Amino acid sequence: MKIIGLTGGIGSGKSTVLRLLEEHFHCYTIQLDEVAHELTKPGNVCYDPVRALFGDEILAENGEIDRKKLAGIVFSDKEKLDKLNWIVHPAVKQEILARISEQKGKNRYPAFVMEAALLIEDHYDEICDEIWYVYADPETRIRRLMDSRGYSREKALAVMENQMPDAEYRKHYQRIIDNSGELCYTDLRFL
Ligand code: ATP
Repeated sequence: MKIIGLTGGIGSGKSTVLRLLEEHFHCYTIQLDEVAHELTKPGNVCYDPVRALFGDEILAENGEIDRKKLAGIVFSDKEKLDKLNWIVHPAVKQEILARISEQKGKNRYPAFVMEAALLIEDHYDEICDEIWYVYADPETRIRRLMDSRGYSREKALAVMENQMPDAEYRKHYQRIIDNSGELCYTDLRFL
């Protein structure tokens, strides 16, 4: 079972490629954001530390952590973002390692594919056999984010500028998927 890390900037098409890998190539797929979301639910390992760090004002009425409120706080507060990441990132990596080990034991999938924008920064290259970089030119990404998520041009640009630049991603990939145009599943053939 090949371990693949799928990365790229916001709106480049990571989730779209991940879905194709699941549907057409029967890969085990997992989004690190989803794992983080799961681990910060009440009763799970990150809930109490995150709640202690930010206070009850980040809770929704049902007691869950309100991700929009949290994102609103950390987007403009780098120190708080770092503290949040120190809690959540190691727990996510531990969970990913456990799932890899579980899937290796079962040997049911040709590849285990994890998806996140921050794979390189968080050193997931150390546990992946290959890093795949999903690229789309900036204008295309902005247009897709405006069309599909109702982002303003300024919001899309602000998030993009906060992420690693294209040149940095390019130092680390074993494979690049150009998703600037139409994406065809045959582009993803890998076995
Ligand atoms: P994020 O970093 O926010 O998770 P992402 O990299 O996972 O974003 P997607 O959500 O896959 O990006 O794609 C962003 C938007 O662009 C979605 O609405 C998706 O449907 C659309 N999209 C992705 N690839 C293509 C394509 N080749 N042609 C047209 N639209 C596309």
